[in-house]
Amino acid sequence: MGTVLIYAEANPDGSLKKATLNAITAGQKVAAAIGAEVHAVALGKDAAALAAAVKDFVKVVHAGSAPQLEHPLAEVVAPAVAGLAEAIGAEYVLGAGTAVGRDVLPRIAARLKAAMASDILSVEGTGADLAFGRPMWAGAVIATVKLSSKVKVLSVRATEFPPAAGGAGGEVKTFAPAAPAVTSSKFVAFKEVKSARPALTEAKVVVAGGRGTKGDFKPIEGLADELGAAVGASRAVCDAGWQPNDLQVGQTGKVVAPALYIAAGISGAIQHVAGMKGSRTIVAVNKDAEAPIFQVADYGLVGDLFKVLPELQAAIKAAR
Ligand SMILES: Cc1cc2nc3c(=O)[nH]c(=O)nc-3n(C[C@H](O)[C@H](O)[C@H](O)COP(=O)(O)OP(=O)(O)OC[C@H]3O[C@@H](n4cnc5c(N)ncnc54)[C@H](O)[C@@H]3O)c2cc1C
Repeated sequence: MGTVLIYAEANPDGSLKKATLNAITAGQKVAAAIGAEVHAVALGKDAAALAAAVKDFVKVVHAGSAPQLEHPLAEVVAPAVAGLAEAIGAEYVLGAGTAVGRDVLPRIAARLKAAMASDILSVEGTGADLAFGRPMWAGAVIATVKLSSKVKVLSVRATEFPPAAGGAGGEVKTFAPAAPAVTSSKFVAFKEVKSARPALTEAKVVVAGGRGTKGDFKPIEGLADELGAAVGASRAVCDAGWQPNDLQVGQTGKVVAPALYIAAGISGAIQHVAGMKGSRTIVAVNKDAEAPIFQVADYGLVGDLFKVLPELQAAIKAAR
């Protein structure tokens, strides 16, 4: 039986990155389509805890511990995953299309001489007809891609697949991870931006502001805090230095799919919409009734965000 291998990504504190569970669901679909088992690879200085966190979701977790794997540098992760994929004869290697996944997976593909489909949205067909939907041109077009190499690599858009359900009761096997012959990058420091708000990619509600805020995010933050939401921003806002880059939503920012996305003072450029159109309910507040954001919004409010958002905040507070 063939194997579909999932790269289990860790958070900086060593816990399992939630997006890995969405990648496992995509892996399960691929495995069902080709008649294969789903395995995972957990890496770290000591990979035992990460392996334990993922084993309930897959048949086998391969735990590779080595000092050089303390931080997920692509240069050290790629040979470890590629070496294991070769050793177990994996047909597919998948991972979440996170910042780390986007760094690591293409290198794994290069090492395995594998074709790669990035940011897949769907798994279609079976056997030799297996194909993948992926966005092109900022999501304006969804391409259907078939890969013809022996081994194939996929990065998965986490928001398009539900998290895998546990209960697989998988087994943990240890292996000695391959190390790169030469390393030209080294980990220096990890500086986390501490915020009392939820993480943008994991929040159930996101309140995002655009250039219409003119840099004043008080109404955005006030409403976000009332709703226990994360704050997001358009690229115009981040490029202007009004908000940090890690709040950017869109093609070149983060892809989010919360239950509720409130876009205020955001025009709805295709590159922004590419990062939030998977949201279950979209609310737009814009003073221009012709703004393109209203084409993707479930609820649209034509008005001044500096008036509408504080009113919304007060109404929600009063309703509690
Ligand atoms: C390769 C590439 C990648 C890109 N990647 C991204 C990306 O990842 N994310 C992203 O966001 N953009 C991205 N962009 C930029 C994108 O094309 C837009 O320029 C950007 O999204 C515009 O941001 P905005 O909507 O905040 O600003 P604007 O387009 O200037 O819109 C501001 C809106 O605010 C409204 N407004 C003004 N005042 C008020 C008020 N008081 N109350 C209510 N509404 C008001 C206006 O009517 C207007 O609709 C990318 C562009 C390129 C070329």
